[in-house]
Amino acid sequence: EPGLYIVATPIGNLRDLSPRAADILSRADVIAVEDSRVTAGLLRHIGTKRPMLPYHDHNAEGMRPALISRMGSEAVALVSDAGTPLISDPGYKLVRDARAAGHLVVTIPGPCAAIAALTLAGLPTDRFLFCGFLPSKEKARADAIAEVANIRATLVLYESGPRLAACLTALAQGLGDRDAAVTREITKRFEEAVTAPLSALAARYADAPPKGEIVIVVAPPGEAPPASLEDGDAALAEALTRLP
Ligand code: SAM
Repeated sequence: EPGLYIVATPIGNLRDLSPRAADILSRADVIAVEDSRVTAGLLRHIGTKRPMLPYHDHNAEGMRPALISRMGSEAVALVSDAGTPLISDPGYKLVRDARAAGHLVVTIPGPCAAIAALTLAGLPTDRFLFCGFLPSKEKARADAIAEVANIRATLVLYESGPRLAACLTALAQGLGDRDAAVTREITKRFEEAVTAPLSALAARYADAPPKGEIVIVVAPPGEAPPASLEDGDAALAEALTRLP
């Protein structure tokens, strides 16, 4: 059926491609891709070849009208190099314009590094704020950290290996020395999650910038929330017994 299909792809392990994602990709009339070499590898894995068009930060403005008009009669799939399109990746304006033009918009959900990191970190997951990549310049980064310092939620950030230690140091300074996790190479051979206070993590990585792809997860400020509803109920019941 004509329309726009948002297709999540693996973040490392090709077997994480869902059967539905494989089905849509092998039947799409055209696939909008970030890097055709990356997507060609994925298509090879599922034994198909489809026409691809580049859609990335540098050409999106120019490409969008052509893609939108094709959606009237063709199935257009959108993928990024890894994970879920639109999440620290291009795509939301394509969805916005596809909707405005009255086209069908369908999502095929799947891997996302931010969510996968939350499942590995062992930090509260009931409320979290996805911060994407922080600015790389020191002042802008400190400002961005100050903006979220009082938010009572776990923070999830993307970062690169060379910048990791500086980012952890800035987080420790701006947020206080909270517990955190550095998760790395999720679903790949050297998958790892290291949990420690921010300052200890900064020290650990200062002299040895890690290789590969990284997600930082930072605990919320202050007391951890009750571990479960039962604990919360018990605390409430206990408090009530002490009322005059
Ligand atoms: N759209 C993607 C998603 O759904 O996660 C994210 C795209 S963003 C341009 C790329 C960043 O995601 C990397 O710099 C890294 O921070 C994170 N990332 C992607 N794959 C990862 C993996 N296998 N392990 C850890 N982090 C990963």
